[in-house]
Amino acid sequence: MEPIADQELGRVVHVLSGASYEQYVGRAMPRYRLPESLWANPYKVGRHGDLDTVLLKFEELISHFCNDASAELASVPGLRRSFPTINKVELAKLNRLTLACWCPDLDGTLLTPHDPEVCHGRILLRLAARAAAELAG
Ligand SMILES: [Zn+2]
Repeated sequence: MEPIADQELGRVVHVLSGASYEQYVGRAMPRYRLPESLWANPYKVGRHGDLDTVLLKFEELISHFCNDASAELASVPGLRRSFPTINKVELAKLNRLTLACWCPDLDGTLLTPHDPEVCHGRILLRLAARAAAELAG
């Protein structure tokens, strides 16, 4: 597969930075009237491991749903959420979008491709680009 240039992936902004965005990918935040995103990471730091671990688990989960047509979508052992509508087509819709999460700096500084991986939003963008490329044939 051709490597995908990072600048083509889209970006992740802080949900309260004031920057416009197209898809919230975080957990439910009633205080800000934000329902849980389909794309929120169901794995939590502490309960499921450290940050690196929950990011890796998230990547594996999304990859699983998008790569295995026979994947059991109803539930994942150990998680309270179900994932009825996560698939490659839905993932590809995130390609090149601006996502909003809580990980980027509040001042609007973007997570750049050169920053360490600290947000599942960037993982989503990376997987979305791959999904879009695969669907395009
Ligand atoms: Zn994040």
